[in-house]
Amino acid sequence: MLKEIKKNIDKINSGIRSENLFDFGTLIAVSKKKKYELIKEAYQNGIRDFGENYAQELDEKAARANEDGVDISWHFIGPIQSNKIALIAKNAQWVHSISRLKEIEKLNNECGLIGKKINVLLQVNISKESSKSGIHKDSIYEFSSCISSKKNLAFKGIMVMPKLYDDDDKTYQVMRECKKIQDDLQRKYPEASELSMGTTSDYKIAIACGSTMIRIGELIFGKRS
Ligand SMILES: *Cc1c(COP(=O)(O)O)cnc(C)c1O
Repeated sequence: MLKEIKKNIDKINSGIRSENLFDFGTLIAVSKKKKYELIKEAYQNGIRDFGENYAQELDEKAARANEDGVDISWHFIGPIQSNKIALIAKNAQWVHSISRLKEIEKLNNECGLIGKKINVLLQVNISKESSKSGIHKDSIYEFSSCISSKKNLAFKGIMVMPKLYDDDDKTYQVMRECKKIQDDLQRKYPEASELSMGTTSDYKIAIACGSTMIRIGELIFGKRS
């Protein structure tokens, strides 16, 4: 797998270039359940942003990276457990998965304790799937106002994880709707400039629709067991 990582990253970058989609924003390599050695390999091939879903796993990997002097920007993208918020505050530069008001309170407090400001995105459950976390789009403004009132949080935009459709037209339709939601939000909150959208299965359409952060796991690191 080590050798394939470079090939995979090259493939993604050239795929993005070939569709004139470059300069879209940030490629986040989602490294959940993958060994630190693989993260290091991706880092040596130019990746600086990594996504993790589990606070404990993030803590262990961030410690290894610090020992190594590897300067990574960590994105927390998994469901947030209350008792893990201190760990998330300590290690992450970005949190994409805010979906409850009390998480906002607690994250702000934990960041205050360590004198840190953290970038946050609101997770919006766009396909209204009960299996997925995220707030309903009708609650976006209530949550946004809460986040932007916190002095240790920098409000940056929204994260979405649309359903995977077999039909590309449907994916385009849903992703354009997400872009519109973020555009509208940014009119009220100019700092909310990020739209975190797109994974291994749908990142090209996501970029075409205006995603500024794609989160790619399996296409870089191989299948997860
Ligand atoms: C696992 C995960 C990804 C990456 O998915 P892949 O299909 O491996 O690219 C992206 N976003 C979130 C929130 C995830 O949990």
